[in-house]
Amino acid sequence: MKWEKVMGLEVHLQLSTHSKIFSSSATAFGADANTQTNPLDMALPGTLPVLNHAAVSQAVVFGLGVGAEIGKVSRFDRKNYFYPDLPKGYQISQFFEPIVKEGVFEVPLEDGSIFPVRILRAHLEEDAGKSVHDAIPGHTGIDLNRAGTPLLEVVTEPDFRTAEQVVAYLKALHALVTYLGISDGNMSEGSMRCDVNLSLRLEGETEYGTRTELKNINSFRFIERAIHVEAERQQDLLESGQGVVQETRLFDPDNDETRSMRSKEVANDYRYFPDPDLLPIVIDDETIERIRDALPELPAVKRGRYTTELGLSQYDANLLTQDRATAEFFEACCAASNNPKATANWMLGDLSAAVNKEGLAIGGGKVTPEGLGSLISRIDDGTLSSKMAKTVFEGLWAGEPDVDRIIEDRGLKQVSDSGALETIVDELIANNPAQVDQYRAADDGKQKKLIGFFVGQAMKASKGQANPQRLNQLLKQKLG
Ligand code: ADP
Ligand code: MG
Repeated sequence: MKWEKVMGLEVHLQLSTHSKIFSSSATAFGADANTQTNPLDMALPGTLPVLNHAAVSQAVVFGLGVGAEIGKVSRFDRKNYFYPDLPKGYQISQFFEPIVKEGVFEVPLEDGSIFPVRILRAHLEEDAGKSVHDAIPGHTGIDLNRAGTPLLEVVTEPDFRTAEQVVAYLKALHALVTYLGISDGNMSEGSMRCDVNLSLRLEGETEYGTRTELKNINSFRFIERAIHVEAERQQDLLESGQGVVQETRLFDPDNDETRSMRSKEVANDYRYFPDPDLLPIVIDDETIERIRDALPELPAVKRGRYTTELGLSQYDANLLTQDRATAEFFEACCAASNNPKATANWMLGDLSAAVNKEGLAIGGGKVTPEGLGSLISRIDDGTLSSKMAKTVFEGLWAGEPDVDRIIEDRGLKQVSDSGALETIVDELIANNPAQVDQYRAADDGKQKKLIGFFVGQAMKASKGQANPQRLNQLLKQKLG
């Protein structure tokens, strides 16, 4: 029997507003406990929520970014549950009418192909506070700094069949929100939290099986692992005829297992109803168009432009657009080099290798896009051989900013000037009459080998600075 995984994702994105969704408290990460709270966040009686419009526009920006329909009228609802970090006893969310409706998000896969993911909805909600177990010995404390932080929950259809598709989606989503500037997408700080709903079915089956929900997995590696471990658990249950129980489970990376957290709640358990303290959000076409006009170029559009206009491969285009900083580095570098293909090769080759070794992002080292761009243009104008270029790159990597200066200081100029090269070639021909005769008598294949001998000698005579292409031309001409 061959089992197929079926997965749908719920991702919570923390929006990058300065203040909370219904109060004026700050949202910055890492402050001392309860220093970013006010009476509303603490749910004191008599306080009323006031909607932060920045959160609304960021949700619309997201909806347009994934090509989804925007809800012209959306509403807030109360999701009732009891938990110590939720002093109101309910979370304000959008249940009945979300601000973002259906759309299709195009996810680039490793092999360069595109995987379309159907977005079911995205809705605004407030975050809860946090229980702190290690601050007060013998007690649990509550930190309400996070309470009321604006979240956008993005829900997909169960379109995923492999862990690779899931990770590719999350990476693309991360790229999208950072391009859009609506979330920093920082997984380790909880700005992007992912729940994976997973069920199994026999290959060829059309009905979905019973699913479990894996909560809050906070790294790509753990997501792949959790999916693998949970699928194996479900398969054992199904093959032994026990069946899967619909529930929420937690992945424990230390023990490499998933554990039951709570039985799956259904909508009824939450007694959803419209929040009477908040008006509906009404968005007109004009506002939507104004927001659309201000959108930056999105990853999918950039990818298309890099392949069609700049002639890059789909694979390179995917890599260069995977986050905004890399794309901006690439574009600044192209402006200086005027050679997109060579720029892509250098960025994904030598520069990537160097930054990866140090665990840095593309722009994290000392190499500037202008520096790398002018290095490439010095290769293109014949000043540098590819070997010399490597030496110049080392200079850039060490923090020397000026390519021409590095060339000058290290005496790296290639000799391309015909006069100087001609002298060398003439001397060579005069000093090696035997080889010259051999060359003239030889067939094409043999001539190629002999040219190699002459180029080698000429390079030696020029102390490695002769332009090999020019030498080649000149030699062929003079020997022929
Ligand atoms: P709930 O309201 O209980 O969270 P939803 O219907 O909103 O349930 O679905 C939540 C997520 O679960 C969605 O991403 C959806 O694609 C996914 N999902 C639904 N059914 C299945 C299933 N049988 N197997 C895997 N994922 C599923
Ligand atoms: Mg859900």
